[in-house]
Amino acid sequence: MSKVRIYTLAKDLGVDNNRMLEILDGLGVSYKSVSSTIEEETVDLIRQLLADEGHEATAEPEAAAAPAQAAAAEPAQAAAKKAAEPAQPAEPSDIPSRAPVVTIMGHVDHGKTSLLDYIRSSKVAAKEAGGITQHVGAFEAKTSRGKIVFIDTPGHEAFTTIRARGANVADIAIIVIAADDSLMPQTREAIAHAQAAKVPMIVAINKVDLPQADVDRVKSDLTSINLVPEDYGGDLITVPVSARSGEGIEDLLEYISLTAELEDLRADPKGEFGGVVIESRVDKQAGVLATIMVQSGTLHVGDFLVVGETYGKIKAMTDSAGSRIKEAGPSTPVQILGFSEAPSSGELVVSAANEHAARERVAGRAEQRRDAEEARLRPKLSLEDIMGP
Ligand code: GDP
Ligand code: MG
Repeated sequence: MSKVRIYTLAKDLGVDNNRMLEILDGLGVSYKSVSSTIEEETVDLIRQLLADEGHEATAEPEAAAAPAQAAAAEPAQAAAKKAAEPAQPAEPSDIPSRAPVVTIMGHVDHGKTSLLDYIRSSKVAAKEAGGITQHVGAFEAKTSRGKIVFIDTPGHEAFTTIRARGANVADIAIIVIAADDSLMPQTREAIAHAQAAKVPMIVAINKVDLPQADVDRVKSDLTSINLVPEDYGGDLITVPVSARSGEGIEDLLEYISLTAELEDLRADPKGEFGGVVIESRVDKQAGVLATIMVQSGTLHVGDFLVVGETYGKIKAMTDSAGSRIKEAGPSTPVQILGFSEAPSSGELVVSAANEHAARERVAGRAEQRRDAEEARLRPKLSLEDIMGP
């Protein structure tokens, strides 16, 4: 054994990645990310540390302990202390983790749809009868490391779903770059959007099955715009993939889960409901079908929802695989029947206690908008108007 990747070691030792980074910080070991490698001596030290911690978890750290050991012992003590205290629902660490929401962006024809199709067909359990027929703009992939939610909206809508009304919808952005084409205008646009939203990026270098694929060229082009891949000494995760052969896609999913773990994504299913419209359409038979991403709280059939200046009552709800469901918690995309008008994608959704409250909320919003419009139309007073000639 020589060098080992941080996340591999974390997995082997049964600690989460954040904990492993804390330990490394405590030891003063520098790293770029969880996929950085560390030296064998460091690995031995960490093993020793964790073994000691196992014995000392409830004991006072020894006065003579090295600073790294003290730092490492601290979280264990905090955890022990916390276990002794009554549960506080407001404590952030008590809020359950939620699945990451991922959006795939990139230049046209670089393989966004193909990647999503590959993941969908290999990681989504199709319903026995009929399979998945309707497009709902999002799907849930089941991986060995847990659920990943992919937003699957066509073309430029991906940009509105990364950041809508000042709130992020996506937790992680996958930037797809075709290995035979490298950086193109929409690639840069996608990168700019992810950076503006401060969403972590993972670059999928696609079409590596092609003979003319040039992964190194993509990496050096990325370096030239200050996005330096890990193997070039930076901290950008790049994953060579092929949506055609499936090569590298397991790695990509693994990196998504690792990134999500570091982001420590949490949402309270018992908290106030908040969501965002992913897409909506009008079905000739069913009526308005809106796909909503639940961001916090839980939706139930029968709930009243307010979007923009309309409201609706949830008559029926289906998950992204097409199964009828009665409730949906954080990071779940659901298709909802019950709006009378199709809400726009990117609109925020809130719930109301009852129909009366929903109406009042809508009326309040309409009034606010009219006031704002009036204020804009009103002629601006000049200083002379106020002060006199
Ligand atoms: P999008 O515009 O980014 O959604 O790109 P598409 O998924 O529609 O792919 C554009 C073209 O590239 C299609 O003809 C795909 O079959 C092809 N393509 C996508 N991924 C790969 C890949 O990994 N290898 C090869 N050889 N072709 C691919
Ligand atoms: Mg496409």
